[in-house]
Amino acid sequence: MLTKTDFLRFRQCPRQLWLHKNRKDLLPDQVDAGKQLVFDNAFEVEEQAYRLFPDGASAYDGQFGQALKKTESLLRRRLSAVFQPTFSRGQLFCRCDILAFDPKRQVWDIYEVKSSTDVKEEHLYDLAFQDICLREAGLPVGRLHIIHINNQYVRQGEIDPRQLLKTVDRTDEARTLTKEVERGIKSGLEVLKLVGEPEVRILKQCSDPYDCPFIPYCWRRIPDHSVYDMNLAEEKLREMLDEGIMLIQDMPDGLATRVIKRRYAEALKSGKPLIEAEAIRTRLADMRYPLHFLDYETYSAPIPPFDGYRPYQQIPFQYSLDVKRLPDARLEHYEFLAAEPGDPVPALSAALAQVIGPKGSIVSWNAAFEAGRNEEMAVRQPQLRGFLASVNSRMFDPMMIFRDGEYADAGFRGSASLKAVLPVLVPELSYGDLAIQEGGTAAASWPKLVGGTLSPEEKEQLYRDMLAYCGRDTLAMVRIVEILEKI
Ligand code: SF4
Repeated sequence: MLTKTDFLRFRQCPRQLWLHKNRKDLLPDQVDAGKQLVFDNAFEVEEQAYRLFPDGASAYDGQFGQALKKTESLLRRRLSAVFQPTFSRGQLFCRCDILAFDPKRQVWDIYEVKSSTDVKEEHLYDLAFQDICLREAGLPVGRLHIIHINNQYVRQGEIDPRQLLKTVDRTDEARTLTKEVERGIKSGLEVLKLVGEPEVRILKQCSDPYDCPFIPYCWRRIPDHSVYDMNLAEEKLREMLDEGIMLIQDMPDGLATRVIKRRYAEALKSGKPLIEAEAIRTRLADMRYPLHFLDYETYSAPIPPFDGYRPYQQIPFQYSLDVKRLPDARLEHYEFLAAEPGDPVPALSAALAQVIGPKGSIVSWNAAFEAGRNEEMAVRQPQLRGFLASVNSRMFDPMMIFRDGEYADAGFRGSASLKAVLPVLVPELSYGDLAIQEGGTAAASWPKLVGGTLSPEEKEQLYRDMLAYCGRDTLAMVRIVEILEKI
Protein backbone atom coordinates (compact mmCIF):
# COMPACT_ATOMS: atom_id res chain seq x y z
CA MET A 1 0.00 0.00 0.00
CA LEU A 2 1.28 3.47 -0.91
CA THR A 3 0.14 6.37 1.25
CA LYS A 4 0.32 10.03 0.38
CA THR A 5 3.29 10.45 2.73
CA ASP A 6 4.97 7.44 1.08
CA PHE A 7 4.51 9.02 -2.31
CA LEU A 8 5.98 12.33 -1.15
CA ARG A 9 8.94 10.46 0.34
CA PHE A 10 9.40 8.61 -2.95
CA ARG A 11 9.39 11.92 -4.79
CA GLN A 12 12.20 13.20 -2.60
CA CYS A 13 14.19 9.98 -2.93
CA PRO A 14 13.21 6.36 -3.74
CA ARG A 15 15.63 5.08 -1.13
CA GLN A 16 13.96 7.20 1.54
CA LEU A 17 10.67 5.42 0.85
CA TRP A 18 12.34 2.02 0.94
CA LEU A 19 14.22 2.73 4.16
CA HIS A 20 11.08 4.02 5.83
CA LYS A 21 9.31 0.74 5.05
CA ASN A 22 12.19 -1.63 5.70
CA ARG A 23 14.69 0.00 8.05
CA LYS A 24 12.73 1.81 10.73
CA ASP A 25 15.57 0.85 13.06
CA LEU A 26 17.64 3.57 11.37
CA LEU A 27 15.23 6.33 12.34
CA PRO A 28 16.18 8.52 15.32
CA ASP A 29 14.68 7.28 18.60
CA GLN A 30 13.30 10.68 19.43
CA VAL A 31 12.04 13.64 17.46
CA ASP A 32 14.22 16.60 18.44
CA ALA A 33 12.59 19.46 20.32
CA GLY A 34 12.74 21.88 17.39
CA LYS A 35 10.99 19.46 15.02
CA GLN A 36 8.39 18.59 17.66
CA LEU A 37 7.57 22.28 17.98
CA VAL A 38 7.08 22.46 14.20
CA PHE A 39 4.65 19.50 14.38
CA ASP A 40 2.76 21.01 17.31
CA ASN A 41 2.48 24.35 15.52
CA ALA A 42 1.26 22.65 12.33
CA PHE A 43 -1.43 20.91 14.35
CA GLU A 44 -2.60 24.27 15.76
CA VAL A 45 -2.74 25.76 12.26
CA GLU A 46 -4.90 22.85 11.15
CA GLU A 47 -7.24 23.46 14.10
CA GLN A 48 -7.60 27.08 12.98
CA ALA A 49 -8.35 25.95 9.43
CA TYR A 50 -11.19 23.75 10.69
CA ARG A 51 -12.79 26.90 12.11
CA LEU A 52 -13.24 28.10 8.51
CA PHE A 53 -15.79 25.29 8.15
CA PRO A 54 -17.99 25.68 11.24
CA ASP A 55 -20.36 22.85 10.31
CA GLY A 56 -17.63 20.31 9.66
CA ALA A 57 -17.02 17.12 11.62
CA SER A 58 -13.92 14.99 12.08
CA ALA A 59 -13.60 11.52 10.59
CA TYR A 60 -10.30 10.93 12.33
CA ASP A 61 -9.64 7.58 13.91
CA GLY A 62 -6.26 6.04 14.71
CA GLN A 63 -7.57 2.68 13.48
CA PHE A 64 -7.47 2.41 9.73
CA GLY A 65 -10.74 0.43 9.35
CA GLN A 66 -12.64 2.69 11.73
CA ALA A 67 -11.36 5.80 9.94
CA LEU A 68 -12.69 4.46 6.62
CA LYS A 69 -16.07 3.70 8.16
CA LYS A 70 -16.34 7.10 9.84
CA THR A 71 -15.42 8.81 6.58
CA GLU A 72 -18.03 6.88 4.64
CA SER A 73 -20.73 7.67 7.13
CA LEU A 74 -19.93 11.40 7.27
CA LEU A 75 -19.76 11.66 3.47
CA ARG A 76 -23.10 9.91 3.17
CA ARG A 77 -24.62 12.44 5.54
CA ARG A 78 -23.51 15.16 3.09
CA LEU A 79 -22.03 17.31 5.84
CA SER A 80 -20.75 20.62 4.55
CA ALA A 81 -17.20 19.63 5.53
CA VAL A 82 -15.33 16.57 6.77
CA PHE A 83 -11.99 16.82 8.55
CA GLN A 84 -9.31 14.14 8.19
CA PRO A 85 -11.34 11.85 5.90
CA THR A 86 -9.58 8.63 4.96
CA PHE A 87 -9.71 6.84 1.62
CA SER A 88 -8.29 3.63 0.33
CA ARG A 89 -8.61 2.10 -3.08
CA GLY A 90 -6.49 -0.67 -4.56
CA GLN A 91 -3.00 0.02 -3.36
CA LEU A 92 -3.51 3.69 -2.56
CA PHE A 93 -4.23 5.23 0.81
CA CYS A 94 -4.84 8.86 1.53
CA ARG A 95 -5.97 11.06 4.39
CA CYS A 96 -7.01 14.60 3.47
CA ASP A 97 -7.08 17.59 5.80
CA ILE A 98 -10.49 18.93 4.79
CA LEU A 99 -13.14 18.01 2.23
CA ALA A 100 -15.95 20.50 1.67
CA PHE A 101 -19.12 19.65 -0.22
CA ASP A 102 -20.21 21.96 -2.99
CA PRO A 103 -23.99 21.44 -3.23
CA LYS A 104 -24.29 23.29 -6.55
CA ARG A 105 -21.84 21.12 -8.42
CA GLN A 106 -22.38 18.09 -6.19
CA VAL A 107 -18.66 17.61 -5.77
CA TRP A 108 -16.19 17.53 -2.90
CA ASP A 109 -13.49 20.20 -2.85
CA ILE A 110 -10.11 19.34 -1.34
CA TYR A 111 -8.39 21.71 1.13
CA GLU A 112 -4.84 20.90 2.20
CA VAL A 113 -3.58 22.91 5.20
CA LYS A 114 0.05 24.05 5.27
CA SER A 115 1.93 26.11 7.87
CA SER A 116 4.05 27.82 5.23
CA THR A 117 3.40 31.38 4.10
CA ASP A 118 3.05 30.42 0.44
CA VAL A 119 2.37 27.47 -1.85
CA LYS A 120 5.38 25.31 -2.54
CA GLU A 121 5.97 22.89 -5.41
CA GLU A 122 5.62 19.83 -3.18
CA HIS A 123 2.17 21.02 -2.07
CA LEU A 124 0.93 20.68 -5.65
CA TYR A 125 2.11 17.06 -5.80
CA ASP A 126 0.36 16.50 -2.48
CA LEU A 127 -2.90 17.81 -3.98
CA ALA A 128 -2.45 15.81 -7.19
CA PHE A 129 -2.01 12.58 -5.20
CA GLN A 130 -5.17 13.26 -3.17
CA ASP A 131 -7.08 14.07 -6.34
CA ILE A 132 -6.08 10.75 -7.94
CA CYS A 133 -6.72 8.71 -4.80
CA LEU A 134 -10.18 10.17 -4.18
CA ARG A 135 -11.23 9.75 -7.80
CA GLU A 136 -10.05 6.14 -7.72
CA ALA A 137 -12.19 5.71 -4.62
CA GLY A 138 -15.17 6.92 -6.67
CA LEU A 139 -15.62 10.36 -5.11
CA PRO A 140 -16.63 13.27 -7.34
CA VAL A 141 -13.76 15.72 -6.77
CA GLY A 142 -14.14 19.44 -7.44
CA ARG A 143 -11.49 22.07 -6.84
CA LEU A 144 -8.10 21.62 -5.17
CA HIS A 145 -6.99 24.21 -2.61
CA ILE A 146 -4.12 25.02 -0.32
CA ILE A 147 -4.82 26.85 2.92
CA HIS A 148 -1.64 28.55 4.13
CA ILE A 149 -0.53 31.24 6.56
CA ASN A 150 -1.11 34.85 5.57
CA ASN A 151 2.18 36.58 6.35
CA GLN A 152 0.48 40.00 6.38
CA TYR A 153 -1.66 39.09 9.35
CA VAL A 154 -1.05 41.01 12.57
CA ARG A 155 -2.64 39.57 15.66
CA GLN A 156 -5.06 41.74 17.59
CA GLY A 157 -6.96 39.85 20.25
CA GLU A 158 -8.44 36.44 19.51
CA ILE A 159 -7.16 34.67 16.41
CA ASP A 160 -9.42 35.18 13.43
CA PRO A 161 -8.81 32.24 11.06
CA ARG A 162 -10.16 34.20 8.10
CA GLN A 163 -7.38 36.75 8.61
CA LEU A 164 -4.66 34.35 9.71
CA LEU A 165 -5.13 31.98 6.77
CA LYS A 166 -5.22 32.36 3.02
CA THR A 167 -7.08 29.91 0.79
CA VAL A 168 -5.83 29.56 -2.75
CA ASP A 169 -7.22 27.47 -5.59
CA ARG A 170 -4.44 25.46 -7.25
CA THR A 171 -6.60 23.07 -9.25
CA ASP A 172 -5.13 23.81 -12.66
CA GLU A 173 -1.49 23.56 -11.61
CA ALA A 174 -2.05 20.40 -9.58
CA ARG A 175 -3.93 18.70 -12.44
CA THR A 176 -1.11 19.32 -14.89
CA LEU A 177 0.86 16.95 -12.63
CA THR A 178 -1.67 14.11 -12.79
CA LYS A 179 0.19 12.00 -15.38
CA GLU A 180 3.52 12.52 -13.65
CA VAL A 181 2.05 11.57 -10.28
CA GLU A 182 0.39 8.47 -11.77
CA ARG A 183 3.79 7.39 -13.09
CA GLY A 184 5.33 8.19 -9.71
CA ILE A 185 2.72 6.06 -7.94
CA LYS A 186 3.58 3.11 -10.19
CA SER A 187 7.30 3.54 -9.58
CA GLY A 188 6.75 4.01 -5.84
CA LEU A 189 4.82 0.73 -5.70
CA GLU A 190 7.71 -0.97 -7.52
CA VAL A 191 10.16 0.36 -4.92
CA LEU A 192 8.02 -1.15 -2.18
CA LYS A 193 8.43 -4.57 -3.78
CA LEU A 194 12.24 -4.41 -3.78
CA VAL A 195 14.04 -6.83 -1.51
CA GLY A 196 17.21 -4.75 -1.22
CA GLU A 197 17.53 -0.99 -0.85
CA PRO A 198 17.56 0.87 -4.16
CA GLU A 199 20.78 2.42 -5.37
CA VAL A 200 20.51 6.18 -5.64
CA ARG A 201 23.10 8.79 -6.30
CA ILE A 202 23.33 11.35 -3.54
CA LEU A 203 22.92 14.80 -4.99
CA LYS A 204 20.82 17.53 -3.41
CA GLN A 205 17.80 15.46 -2.46
CA CYS A 206 18.80 14.75 1.13
CA SER A 207 17.66 18.17 2.30
CA ASP A 208 15.25 19.11 -0.45
CA PRO A 209 12.46 19.75 0.30
CA TYR A 210 12.98 18.31 3.80
CA ASP A 211 15.91 17.06 5.84
CA CYS A 212 15.94 13.30 5.39
CA PRO A 213 16.15 11.33 8.64
CA PHE A 214 18.46 8.76 7.01
CA ILE A 215 21.35 11.15 6.40
CA PRO A 216 23.59 9.57 9.11
CA TYR A 217 23.09 6.17 7.45
CA CYS A 218 23.41 7.12 3.79
CA TRP A 219 26.27 9.54 4.34
CA ARG A 220 28.31 7.22 6.54
CA ARG A 221 30.81 6.46 3.79
CA ILE A 222 31.16 9.96 2.45
CA PRO A 223 34.64 11.09 3.46
CA ASP A 224 35.49 14.27 5.33
CA HIS A 225 36.01 17.35 3.17
CA SER A 226 34.11 15.95 0.23
CA VAL A 227 32.63 17.76 -2.76
CA TYR A 228 29.32 17.75 -0.85
CA ASP A 229 30.80 20.27 1.59
CA MET A 230 31.25 22.79 -1.22
CA ASN A 231 27.58 23.61 -1.73
CA LEU A 232 27.97 23.28 -5.50
CA ALA A 233 25.08 23.69 -7.90
CA GLU A 234 23.54 20.28 -8.69
CA GLU A 235 24.93 20.25 -12.21
CA LYS A 236 28.48 20.93 -10.99
CA LEU A 237 28.15 18.34 -8.25
CA ARG A 238 27.00 15.77 -10.80
CA GLU A 239 29.95 16.66 -13.03
CA MET A 240 32.42 16.09 -10.18
CA LEU A 241 30.88 12.74 -9.31
CA ASP A 242 30.81 11.68 -12.98
CA GLU A 243 34.53 12.39 -13.14
CA GLY A 244 35.07 10.30 -10.02
CA ILE A 245 36.06 13.32 -7.92
CA MET A 246 34.90 12.93 -4.31
CA LEU A 247 37.43 14.99 -2.36
CA ILE A 248 37.76 18.75 -2.37
CA GLN A 249 41.52 18.20 -2.63
CA ASP A 250 40.97 16.75 -6.11
CA MET A 251 38.57 19.40 -7.36
CA PRO A 252 39.76 21.93 -9.91
CA ASP A 253 40.10 25.44 -8.48
CA GLY A 254 37.46 28.10 -8.97
CA LEU A 255 34.33 25.94 -8.99
CA ALA A 256 32.81 27.37 -5.84
CA THR A 257 30.92 30.59 -6.30
CA ARG A 258 30.99 31.74 -2.65
CA VAL A 259 34.18 33.24 -1.21
CA ILE A 260 33.88 31.25 2.00
CA LYS A 261 33.82 27.96 0.07
CA ARG A 262 36.71 29.00 -2.17
CA ARG A 263 38.80 29.87 0.87
CA TYR A 264 37.80 26.57 2.49
CA ALA A 265 39.20 24.68 -0.49
CA GLU A 266 42.34 26.82 -0.50
CA ALA A 267 42.93 26.26 3.24
CA LEU A 268 42.40 22.54 2.81
CA LYS A 269 44.79 22.29 -0.13
CA SER A 270 47.45 24.40 1.57
CA GLY A 271 47.22 22.30 4.75
CA LYS A 272 47.15 25.33 7.04
CA PRO A 273 44.78 28.12 8.11
CA LEU A 274 44.71 31.15 5.86
CA ILE A 275 44.78 34.37 7.85
CA GLU A 276 44.70 37.79 6.24
CA ALA A 277 46.16 39.63 9.21
CA GLU A 278 45.92 43.11 7.74
CA ALA A 279 42.28 42.74 6.72
CA ILE A 280 41.38 41.37 10.16
CA ARG A 281 43.21 44.20 11.94
CA THR A 282 41.36 46.72 9.77
CA ARG A 283 38.04 45.15 10.73
CA LEU A 284 38.88 45.07 14.42
CA ALA A 285 39.88 48.72 14.32
CA ASP A 286 36.15 49.45 14.15
CA MET A 287 35.59 47.90 17.58
CA ARG A 288 35.43 50.26 20.55
CA TYR A 289 35.75 49.39 24.23
CA PRO A 290 33.75 48.69 26.31
CA LEU A 291 32.81 45.67 24.25
CA HIS A 292 29.27 44.31 24.78
CA PHE A 293 28.95 40.74 23.55
CA LEU A 294 25.24 40.29 22.94
CA ASP A 295 23.14 37.30 21.89
CA TYR A 296 19.35 36.90 21.72
CA GLU A 297 17.31 33.73 21.77
CA THR A 298 14.02 34.09 19.97
CA TYR A 299 10.75 32.28 19.50
CA SER A 300 8.61 32.26 16.36
CA ALA A 301 5.42 30.46 15.43
CA PRO A 302 2.94 30.47 12.53
CA ILE A 303 0.24 31.66 14.93
CA PRO A 304 1.56 34.79 16.66
CA PRO A 305 1.29 34.25 20.42
CA PHE A 306 0.81 37.95 21.30
CA ASP A 307 -0.98 40.99 19.95
CA GLY A 308 0.90 43.14 17.46
CA TYR A 309 3.01 40.29 16.06
CA ARG A 310 3.00 38.74 12.60
CA PRO A 311 3.23 35.00 11.83
CA TYR A 312 6.79 33.72 12.25
CA GLN A 313 8.00 37.03 13.66
CA GLN A 314 11.05 36.37 15.84
CA ILE A 315 10.28 37.34 19.43
CA PRO A 316 13.33 37.78 21.69
CA PHE A 317 12.70 36.14 25.06
CA GLN A 318 16.29 35.91 26.33
CA TYR A 319 19.60 37.66 26.09
CA SER A 320 23.10 37.02 27.32
CA LEU A 321 25.48 39.94 27.58
CA ASP A 322 29.18 39.83 28.45
CA VAL A 323 30.82 43.22 28.92
CA LYS A 324 34.54 43.79 28.66
CA ARG A 325 35.36 47.35 29.61
CA LEU A 326 39.08 47.16 28.72
CA PRO A 327 41.21 44.55 26.92
CA ASP A 328 42.47 43.11 30.22
CA ALA A 329 39.40 43.80 32.33
CA ARG A 330 37.42 41.08 34.09
CA LEU A 331 34.36 39.95 32.15
CA GLU A 332 30.99 41.16 33.48
CA HIS A 333 28.03 38.90 32.73
CA TYR A 334 24.38 39.96 32.48
CA GLU A 335 21.43 37.88 31.42
CA PHE A 336 17.68 37.97 31.03
CA LEU A 337 15.20 35.16 30.49
CA ALA A 338 11.44 35.70 30.52
CA ALA A 339 10.07 32.96 32.76
CA GLU A 340 6.40 33.98 32.90
CA PRO A 341 3.76 33.93 30.15
CA GLY A 342 3.18 37.08 28.11
CA ASP A 343 5.08 39.24 25.65
CA PRO A 344 8.72 39.18 26.86
CA VAL A 345 9.83 42.22 24.87
CA PRO A 346 8.90 45.08 27.29
CA ALA A 347 10.85 43.56 30.19
CA LEU A 348 13.72 42.30 28.01
CA SER A 349 14.31 45.63 26.27
CA ALA A 350 14.04 47.58 29.55
CA ALA A 351 16.55 45.24 31.20
CA LEU A 352 18.92 45.62 28.26
CA ALA A 353 18.75 49.41 28.51
CA GLN A 354 19.97 49.10 32.12
CA VAL A 355 23.14 47.25 31.21
CA ILE A 356 24.27 48.65 27.86
CA GLY A 357 25.80 52.09 28.24
CA PRO A 358 26.06 54.84 25.61
CA LYS A 359 29.60 53.95 24.55
CA GLY A 360 31.37 50.94 23.11
CA SER A 361 30.68 48.32 20.46
CA ILE A 362 27.92 45.75 20.54
CA VAL A 363 29.49 42.51 19.33
CA SER A 364 27.03 40.00 17.88
CA TRP A 365 27.60 36.97 15.66
CA ASN A 366 25.48 37.49 12.56
CA ALA A 367 24.63 40.93 13.94
CA ALA A 368 21.99 41.58 11.26
CA PHE A 369 19.70 39.23 13.19
CA GLU A 370 20.09 41.07 16.51
CA ALA A 371 19.81 44.43 14.71
CA GLY A 372 16.55 43.31 13.08
CA ARG A 373 15.10 42.36 16.46
CA ASN A 374 16.17 45.73 17.88
CA GLU A 375 14.35 47.53 15.07
CA GLU A 376 11.20 45.53 15.76
CA MET A 377 11.47 46.13 19.50
CA ALA A 378 11.84 49.85 18.87
CA VAL A 379 8.46 49.85 17.11
CA ARG A 380 6.83 48.19 20.11
CA GLN A 381 8.77 50.18 22.74
CA PRO A 382 8.94 53.73 21.35
CA GLN A 383 10.40 55.06 24.63
CA LEU A 384 13.50 52.92 23.91
CA ARG A 385 13.79 53.88 20.25
CA GLY A 386 16.84 56.10 20.81
CA PHE A 387 18.61 53.47 22.90
CA LEU A 388 17.94 50.65 20.41
CA ALA A 389 19.01 52.83 17.47
CA SER A 390 22.24 53.60 19.32
CA VAL A 391 22.82 49.88 19.92
CA ASN A 392 22.34 49.20 16.22
CA SER A 393 24.68 52.01 15.19
CA ARG A 394 27.43 50.38 17.31
CA MET A 395 27.09 46.81 16.10
CA PHE A 396 30.22 44.85 15.23
CA ASP A 397 29.96 41.43 13.61
CA PRO A 398 33.03 39.15 13.97
CA MET A 399 31.32 36.58 11.75
CA MET A 400 32.14 38.70 8.69
CA ILE A 401 35.84 37.91 9.13
CA PHE A 402 35.02 34.24 8.62
CA ARG A 403 32.25 34.70 6.07
CA ASP A 404 34.54 36.76 3.85
CA GLY A 405 37.34 34.22 4.15
CA GLU A 406 39.76 36.54 5.94
CA TYR A 407 40.24 33.74 8.44
CA ALA A 408 39.79 30.34 6.78
CA ASP A 409 40.49 26.98 8.35
CA ALA A 410 39.55 23.66 6.78
CA GLY A 411 38.05 22.73 10.15
CA PHE A 412 35.29 25.32 9.67
CA ARG A 413 34.14 23.27 6.66
CA GLY A 414 33.25 26.39 4.76
CA SER A 415 30.84 27.64 7.41
CA ALA A 416 31.01 30.88 9.37
CA SER A 417 28.57 29.81 12.06
CA LEU A 418 29.66 30.10 15.67
CA LYS A 419 29.13 26.36 16.08
CA ALA A 420 31.60 25.71 13.22
CA VAL A 421 34.26 28.22 14.23
CA LEU A 422 34.35 27.69 18.01
CA PRO A 423 35.53 24.05 18.13
CA VAL A 424 38.48 24.90 15.88
CA LEU A 425 39.61 28.12 17.54
CA VAL A 426 38.64 27.34 21.14
CA PRO A 427 38.41 23.54 21.33
CA GLU A 428 38.25 23.55 25.14
CA LEU A 429 35.00 25.55 25.04
CA SER A 430 32.34 23.38 23.44
CA TYR A 431 28.60 22.98 23.87
CA GLY A 432 28.99 19.27 24.63
CA ASP A 433 28.59 19.63 28.39
CA LEU A 434 25.30 21.56 28.11
CA ALA A 435 21.78 20.14 28.27
CA ILE A 436 20.76 22.53 25.46
CA GLN A 437 23.25 22.56 22.62
CA GLU A 438 21.65 24.46 19.78
CA GLY A 439 19.31 27.36 19.11
CA GLY A 440 16.36 25.26 17.86
CA THR A 441 16.14 23.44 21.18
CA ALA A 442 16.49 26.71 23.10
CA ALA A 443 13.59 28.23 21.13
CA ALA A 444 11.46 25.12 21.62
CA SER A 445 12.21 25.20 25.37
CA TRP A 446 10.71 28.62 25.94
CA PRO A 447 7.02 27.69 25.54
CA LYS A 448 7.69 24.85 27.98
CA LEU A 449 9.33 27.21 30.45
CA VAL A 450 6.38 29.61 30.49
CA GLY A 451 3.70 27.04 29.77
CA GLY A 452 2.81 26.12 33.33
CA THR A 453 3.08 22.36 32.85
CA LEU A 454 6.49 21.86 34.52
CA SER A 455 7.01 21.21 38.20
CA PRO A 456 8.89 24.00 40.05
CA GLU A 457 12.03 21.81 40.04
CA GLU A 458 11.76 21.07 36.32
CA LYS A 459 11.17 24.73 35.58
CA GLU A 460 14.19 25.74 37.66
CA GLN A 461 16.37 23.20 35.85
CA LEU A 462 15.19 24.27 32.41
CA TYR A 463 15.71 27.91 33.36
CA ARG A 464 19.31 27.17 34.32
CA ASP A 465 19.91 25.09 31.16
CA MET A 466 18.61 27.91 28.97
CA LEU A 467 20.79 30.49 30.72
CA ALA A 468 23.82 28.23 30.33
CA TYR A 469 23.25 27.78 26.59
CA CYS A 470 22.82 31.46 25.75
CA GLY A 471 25.72 32.35 28.07
CA ARG A 472 27.96 29.94 26.17
CA ASP A 473 27.18 31.76 22.92
CA THR A 474 28.44 35.09 24.25
CA LEU A 475 31.46 33.54 25.98
CA ALA A 476 32.33 31.84 22.68
CA MET A 477 32.32 35.24 20.98
CA VAL A 478 34.52 36.72 23.72
CA ARG A 479 37.13 34.00 23.30
CA ILE A 480 37.11 34.17 19.50
CA VAL A 481 37.52 37.95 19.51
CA GLU A 482 40.43 37.58 21.97
CA ILE A 483 42.12 35.27 19.47
CA LEU A 484 41.45 37.66 16.60
CA GLU A 485 42.85 40.56 18.63
CA LYS A 486 46.14 38.71 19.02
CA ILE A 487 46.64 38.42 15.25
S1 SF4 B 1 19.76 10.48 3.06
FE1 SF4 B 1 19.57 11.16 0.97
S2 SF4 B 1 20.05 9.36 -0.27
FE2 SF4 B 1 19.60 8.64 1.80
S3 SF4 B 1 17.46 8.15 1.78
FE3 SF4 B 1 17.64 10.21 2.48
S4 SF4 B 1 17.39 11.46 0.67
FE4 SF4 B 1 17.84 9.40 -0.01
